[in-house]
Amino acid sequence: MSLLDVKNLQVSYGGIHAVKGIDLHIEQGELVTLIGANGAGKTSTLRTLVGMEKKSGGSIVYDGKETAGIPAHNFVRHGLAMVPEGRGIFAKLTVEENLLMGAFYRDDKAAIQNELEHVYELFPRLKERFKQLAGTLSGGEQQMVAMGRAILSKPKLLLLDEPSMGLAPIIVQKIFEIIQMISAQGVTMLLVEQNAKLALEISQRGYVMESGRITMSGPARELLDDERVRNAYLGG
Ligand code: ATP
Repeated sequence: MSLLDVKNLQVSYGGIHAVKGIDLHIEQGELVTLIGANGAGKTSTLRTLVGMEKKSGGSIVYDGKETAGIPAHNFVRHGLAMVPEGRGIFAKLTVEENLLMGAFYRDDKAAIQNELEHVYELFPRLKERFKQLAGTLSGGEQQMVAMGRAILSKPKLLLLDEPSMGLAPIIVQKIFEIIQMISAQGVTMLLVEQNAKLALEISQRGYVMESGRITMSGPARELLDDERVRNAYLGG
């Protein structure tokens, strides 16, 4: 059974059909990339998967159950977490307060403390700055906070929306290394990325989305070698 099984998913905003009936599945432990041009419907897809947007049709089966019945604020409790584009951190809270927000629904204090230490091992820079107000961090550091916060929610499925957006190449490299580490620790992930080459290189499979539809899918290796993908998304 797939961890996530999406069939004929549709998302509309009034008359705008952002997602026009897509199928996708993610197996336990997989790292899967979704690529596509601006406005293709990737963010709408992710937001709908975590209950932030209502679907207008189709089905989303997560961990064997249809998600339609889960209230939006309960998705995290069910292990479905998203690191949004723009990161959504709390500027007036410290780094550590932001990280602990990820664990808001948990009461296993000792485990939370262990995982906080683990996040600080992944991101030593956050440890150095644990008392700093998150709003004063650099873009790359804020991305680290957003990822660390998601890790502290103990996700079974982690959705990442454009984690490399606006970051310097050296930081992008670091963020991709961390994504690989999180994946190696067994967290299943769906990654949306403009940086299609790097994303496909660390993924097992990929989907290409164009104008609200999935137009191609397959092993990441095959997509990297595909001429249409190369021309459209990998700079030829
Ligand atoms: P990008 O890479 O630019 O973020 P995307 O693939 O993530 O693009 P979406 O953000 O999902 O694409 O947008 C898909 C379409 O839905 C776009 O035409 C967008 O303008 C529209 N759209 C998204 N959110 C809303 C909204 N809240 N209200 C109306 N239209 C929306």
